[in-house]
Amino acid sequence: MGISTITASRIYDGQSKGGKGEENSLVFEYAPYLALSKTYSVDQQTPDSAPTMTAMVTGVKTIGDSLSVNHYVAHSELNANVVDTNKLTTILEQAKSNGMSAGVVSTARITHATPAATYAHTANRDWETDSNRPAGATVPDIAAQLVDFSVTGGIDVALGGGRTYFLPNTATDPEYGVAGKRKDGRNLTTDWLKKTNSKYVWNKADFDAIDPNATDHLLGLFEPSHVHYEVDRLTHDKAGEPSLTDMTTKAIDILKKNPNGYFLMVEGGRIDHAHHSGNAYRALTETQQLSAAVLAAIKKTDPKDTLIIVTADHSHVFTIGGYPQRGNPILGLTQGVGATTPDLDMLGLPYTTLNYANGTGYTGASNAQPAGTKSFNEAKGPWASGSEGHNPTSYSPANGRPVLTSALVTNPDYLQEASIPLNSETHAAEDVAIFAYGPKAHLFHGIVEQNVIYHVMAEALGFAK
Ligand SMILES: [Zn+2]
Repeated sequence: MGISTITASRIYDGQSKGGKGEENSLVFEYAPYLALSKTYSVDQQTPDSAPTMTAMVTGVKTIGDSLSVNHYVAHSELNANVVDTNKLTTILEQAKSNGMSAGVVSTARITHATPAATYAHTANRDWETDSNRPAGATVPDIAAQLVDFSVTGGIDVALGGGRTYFLPNTATDPEYGVAGKRKDGRNLTTDWLKKTNSKYVWNKADFDAIDPNATDHLLGLFEPSHVHYEVDRLTHDKAGEPSLTDMTTKAIDILKKNPNGYFLMVEGGRIDHAHHSGNAYRALTETQQLSAAVLAAIKKTDPKDTLIIVTADHSHVFTIGGYPQRGNPILGLTQGVGATTPDLDMLGLPYTTLNYANGTGYTGASNAQPAGTKSFNEAKGPWASGSEGHNPTSYSPANGRPVLTSALVTNPDYLQEASIPLNSETHAAEDVAIFAYGPKAHLFHGIVEQNVIYHVMAEALGFAK
């Protein structure tokens, strides 16, 4: 959620409410304190989500793909003892050790890099389930680390996707019938139920039926992999699943029962996924949903005792360009001040305001984006499984641009043009914003290293290390 994503989402949100858009603000833009975050990791100029979230939750930068272990651990270290010796204590672990409650909420798999950095220690973010690990690995997989997390009764709330990572390969998924991924025979959803006052839910009806006052440990896994994009959630999901706002609200209602307080991590994880797929529409609408979740959190808390931080782990190569006039549809063709037709490039062709420097929307010599190959396809997208791809595939050489129409570019599945063909649009290296409300929020000012976020949280919670 880089700055360009926030600006474009603010305009989209304003236009979807009938305004010109530019004057609108997302909820978290009203935060009184702001800083910029330098996101590089120990070995990456442009980082992935593993070391960036590690920096935020441990105060220490590490190498790419590593989750809450220091940079002395080699990438993909197999030996659990080496990982254990070099693990970094997380703010979530400290919260639990100090008698507080703790939760993680995401629209990605709950074992994906960002949520995983809060509770797991491993030098390969892809080891989300045991069958993903190479032979000889003694480091436990991430799903097992979530359920086996034992500090003061374990994690209290975990809501998101990734159900098959918790189920044995002898079991079938209750919603889609696909096989579980675990080869160790464990069913982690039933292991979760060994906790006191615990519940496991996998659909919206069961989720809605959870009484926060009668439930102390809640595991909710609503899809085999990532949950649906917000705009697809109601139409595409078989058994129904809660929104990011629904999950945030339920999590706070369970966690706030603890008089010692709580730590909660909420991730709008699919903003990133939509960008990787080259689809601005879903990136903007996911950002709108994150804004709604922040509003729900603000309504449920008091800035006198609760620090709320909104930030991104990294940016994306997403730009807002041309000279569109005030109120020009943000997803539309660029049309200048006073113009009645779209602005034209040096080839005499119209262009959009939103574009990507690289990614799946590369069109090369074609004069259109043929359906099925250049439009958004969740099932075939680079994010259907696996980790963050950086591998270019072969495309025909560029010698032209597509002929775009307003109808084409405002289609929800349109992929904005990209200059360089990659099968997954990439992250970007520029600073991201940190917005903050509440105790110690004033410590955020200027340009800070990303790991400063941990230190502000530790200061606010009274356990700076
Ligand atoms: Zn990413």
